Amino acid sequence: MFKVPELSYSYDALEPYIDAQTMEIHLTKHHQTYVNNLNKALEVYPELQLKSLEDLLINLKSLPNDIQTAVQNNAGGHYNHSLFWKMMGPDSTKLHGRLLQDIEKKFGSFEQFQQQFETAAKTRFGSGWAWLALDGNGDLQVYSTANQDATLLQGSQTILGLDVWEHAYYLNYQNRRPDYIAAWWHVVDWDYVQERYLDAIGA
Ligand code: MN
Repeated sequence: MFKVPELSYSYDALEPYIDAQTMEIHLTKHHQTYVNNLNKALEVYPELQLKSLEDLLINLKSLPNDIQTAVQNNAGGHYNHSLFWKMMGPDSTKLHGRLLQDIEKKFGSFEQFQQQFETAAKTRFGSGWAWLALDGNGDLQVYSTANQDATLLQGSQTILGLDVWEHAYYLNYQNRRPDYIAAWWHVVDWDYVQERYLDAIGA
């Protein structure tokens, strides 16, 4: 059975950028619902309950037809949120080292990367995520996906992700998604993001 992970920080640790109530509802209601629905979808397939989220998402098309959509949405939701909590923290860090170098190489500068990422986040119509991902060719890409579609569905590894569903910001920011996006940079744990990147490139 899949489970919602425990946060390594308190619900109010990301204030004033993300408020405690949003964090609590996001984790205990929204994320929990993805986990519940994933477990329910896999109820009649005990062998699939032993697979990792990565495995389920990468091999989505080989799963039984009747659960593909449920796994896409709910394994995706569980995977994306589990990473999202770890990509944030109260001790905001500054990006340095290999990932910074490679971002500068790809996007021109860190600021240009941020701009491109923000545009992806702002222009995602409806619900979804903005991503920095490493594609199958080892190339960094910025884009967004709808709903809970994980980057793994297109063979890319998630390096950084931002939830732009209204449930992620509405209590504090209402319709001001750009304000939420701008504030969010203050709580990114770049040390963890860098770790993911080094792991993804095998460094
Ligand atoms: Mn969410």
